[in-house]
Amino acid sequence: MRSNKKKFLIILISPSGGGKTALYRRVLNDNENIKYSVSFTTRKPRVNEIDGVDYNFVSQKKFLEMKNKGEFLESAMVHGYWYGTSKEYVSQILEKNNIIMDIDVQGAKQIIQTAVDQITIFILPPSREIWLKRLKKRGSESEESLSVRLDSAKKEIMQARDFDYLVINDKLETAIKEIEDIISAEENKTKRYINIKQYIGG
Ligand code: 5GP
Repeated sequence: MRSNKKKFLIILISPSGGGKTALYRRVLNDNENIKYSVSFTTRKPRVNEIDGVDYNFVSQKKFLEMKNKGEFLESAMVHGYWYGTSKEYVSQILEKNNIIMDIDVQGAKQIIQTAVDQITIFILPPSREIWLKRLKKRGSESEESLSVRLDSAKKEIMQARDFDYLVINDKLETAIKEIEDIISAEENKTKRYINIKQYIGG
């Protein structure tokens, strides 16, 4: 049966090490009707990252061409590389599914300015100590890139109140439940029902 609810973007924002990757993977796993927004980036793939699955890895030339043609819903330079979300990709998925996206504060703010229906969820680790431990455990960062990420994370945290929801990622299961509860409540907002009359035979 065709869904009777309008679809929307679920934007997860968090500083590096906030743990949002584990969160959105579980949300995607638990909810077949939610799809992941695969971003474009000029950063090089890390070990285990697959082109077209984790990101669309493109050259700076290609990225800037797309940007100049207005193909991105949002785009931002993060830690020295370009990242962007394709308008066409998002609008295709929104025809049938909600989309979860993992983007930075600058990108999230750009989307808030558009007419696209979206909810924004800011994710934070429970403490500075745990945050540092998670960042270091990831092991993919040089000391230099770690300190760049720490600096930008501090600035991002100051902007948490610009977003709709705040979830503290202490226990993974609790954070997942909180995110899924938010999504479920948002899905049931009356404004998202396409046809309410059908429930009383109208
Ligand atoms: P990473 O390179 O570690 O995968 O991601 C670095 C940062 O870029 C993260 O904060 C991530 O949320 C952000 N990011 C990933 N994709 C996009 C995107 O399409 N747009 C924006 N604005 N940020 C993105």
